[in-house]
Amino acid sequence: MTAQHTTQSFIHDGKTYELRLQSDGWTFTVKAFLNGQPANGYSHSVTLPTAFDLRNTKGCDAIEILFEDAKSDIRDGTWDRLVEALNALHLTEDQSIGCRKCTSREVEIKTVDDRKMYRCKSCNNVWYEKRTVGGAYEMTLDDITEGVIAKGSYELHIAFLLNMNFREEAGRPSFWDQLQNWCNQNHLAYQVFYKQIKRGKDEQWLRFTRNIRAQKPSPTSPT
Ligand SMILES: [Zn+2]
Repeated sequence: MTAQHTTQSFIHDGKTYELRLQSDGWTFTVKAFLNGQPANGYSHSVTLPTAFDLRNTKGCDAIEILFEDAKSDIRDGTWDRLVEALNALHLTEDQSIGCRKCTSREVEIKTVDDRKMYRCKSCNNVWYEKRTVGGAYEMTLDDITEGVIAKGSYELHIAFLLNMNFREEAGRPSFWDQLQNWCNQNHLAYQVFYKQIKRGKDEQWLRFTRNIRAQKPSPTSPT
């Protein structure tokens, strides 16, 4: 029998999850997806004593309970609690690195601005090691990177970077080259815009966002 699947949608906290039921005829598995990526690391499955057509599963308690289990994982935040508990165990990097958004283990690790940056190769999720020491220089840059992670974009008066982090000095690249280079390292894009702070005086600001050009297209959902 060829693999078949059927889906249910489930809304929690404003997000629409897709619960996919897959089967080879005997074993039935339900897994939750969000935006085409696994929503957590759980799969719920049952193996029946006899082959069963997926089209007849509606109202079959043995199958319906798998959907209910997948929904309660999301409702109760079970996965988030598990991730927190694992973090608390301080596992070594190799044992514990996985993307929290899509659970992929394909994670690229680089050192940027003296701390580790992690990027999921499957969904382009970016996160950083917690900084333990750092001054104003790092704080300005961390505000940008953390701001983009938290809200999707971050705005900053150009003077902060122009006069401090990416100052033009002899032997250094131009301000714009330093800015672009830093954005490339952090998978960010920037846009210049103008804000009127004082009457009649436009000031130059920068808006940072995730550079989505590096993102792989997400796999298409089964219909
Ligand atoms: Zn990911």
